[in-house]
Amino acid sequence: MFEIAIIGGGLSGLSLAHRLQRAGRSFLLCESRDRLGGRILSVAGSRRETGGDGAGFRYDLGPGWVWPAQQPRIAALLRQFNLESYPQWIAGRALYQPGREIAPQAYVDQQTYADARRIAGGSERLIEALVGELPAQRLMTGSHLRQLTDRGDHIELELIRAGEVQRLRARQVVLALPPRLLAQQLGFEPALDARLLQMMQQTPTWMAGHAKALIRYRHPFWREAGWSGAVLANYRGAILGEVFDAGAEDGSAAALSGFFALPTELRRQYRGDLYALILDQLVGLFGPEAAAPEELMIKEWADEPLTATADDAIPPTDHPQYGHRWFELDHWNDKLHFAGTETAPGFGGYLEGALESAERAAQALGVWDEWGGALPRCSNGGD
Ligand SMILES: Cc1cc2nc3c(=O)[nH]c(=O)nc-3n(C[C@H](O)[C@H](O)[C@H](O)COP(=O)(O)OP(=O)(O)OC[C@H]3O[C@@H](n4cnc5c(N)ncnc54)[C@H](O)[C@@H]3O)c2cc1C
Repeated sequence: MFEIAIIGGGLSGLSLAHRLQRAGRSFLLCESRDRLGGRILSVAGSRRETGGDGAGFRYDLGPGWVWPAQQPRIAALLRQFNLESYPQWIAGRALYQPGREIAPQAYVDQQTYADARRIAGGSERLIEALVGELPAQRLMTGSHLRQLTDRGDHIELELIRAGEVQRLRARQVVLALPPRLLAQQLGFEPALDARLLQMMQQTPTWMAGHAKALIRYRHPFWREAGWSGAVLANYRGAILGEVFDAGAEDGSAAALSGFFALPTELRRQYRGDLYALILDQLVGLFGPEAAAPEELMIKEWADEPLTATADDAIPPTDHPQYGHRWFELDHWNDKLHFAGTETAPGFGGYLEGALESAERAAQALGVWDEWGGALPRCSNGGD
């Protein structure tokens, strides 16, 4: 029998595991994917950029920005693990593209990425830092939870591991994954309250319906031409809606990255043409040098069943109000708890929200702030 089972090895689950570990509590973390990190995914650049020690530059195909000036838990985590961050590159002029046949307009933008920073070595550094302090035998990847049963003094978990059904028992369970996945993919015995399930089903998973393109070049030619790399394109038929510089501060690793304006269904329909369409758009913005990248990657998050459901194909237009207060109610006599960024009232959706949710779940399990000081509480909880 485990004291606590954490389901989900994204930032929220791992941050919770780290808090429990430091408090000397016993736990087991189960993650369905074969890797930890969830929506956090950093990939290495070419050998020239990564250098001989393998600890070089990485590009983010998931979250790339943190705002330590406004995010106290991210700031504390970076400090605690001595992780460096650097500002999003904004020097130079940004571009606004109002139409395919209309010349892009240059403007100075100090606002959009103000205070946004990138973690040196990629956002996955956060995951590696946490995992580095956790015993390997407490982290079980390739373990997919499909059913929870309330057995009175414990919860029985039914997992699929290497194609086999495995049953575990835990006194308490924390579900650290998107609520919409929970509602659609997990069985609960007895069934959860229908209103709670409906609320979870209606909670969009942040960024789950999006795809990110990464276009690596040999050198940041746009910087040399006076462009910041930032582009806003909001015309019908635009391929990328937002483009930004995703390279190293010193230009030793050069890349543009962007989020698609094309909706999920059209991305699926035109999958084979997306590379050419992206390059065509970038050539129209930055000139012929944009036509010859070293590499072009597309990470389609809407096709990741452990992140997105069919309902996420149409993403919300505004940032949702996350952190419904029902997540904090007593479920199954204090045995069942919810974490994950979508359960955080203050910074829900963001990496900071994942940490916020882990902090709240830890407190519900009797583990209080490990950072040595009270963190500001946000009070804009939704209902
Ligand atoms: C393209 C993109 C860009 C983003 N940009 C930013 C940004 O710049 N800044 C920012 O702050 N945030 C950004 N975000 C949001 C950020 O990634 C999330 O807030 C954060 O990673 C959520 O962490 P989490 O642990 O709550 O959830 P997740 O990372 O989704 O972790 C949940 C985990 O549960 C696992 N799981 C699911 N089902 C099961 C099951 N049945 N059994 C076991 N395990 C299961 C999943 O595999 C996953 O590992 C971005 C997200 C995306 C996709």
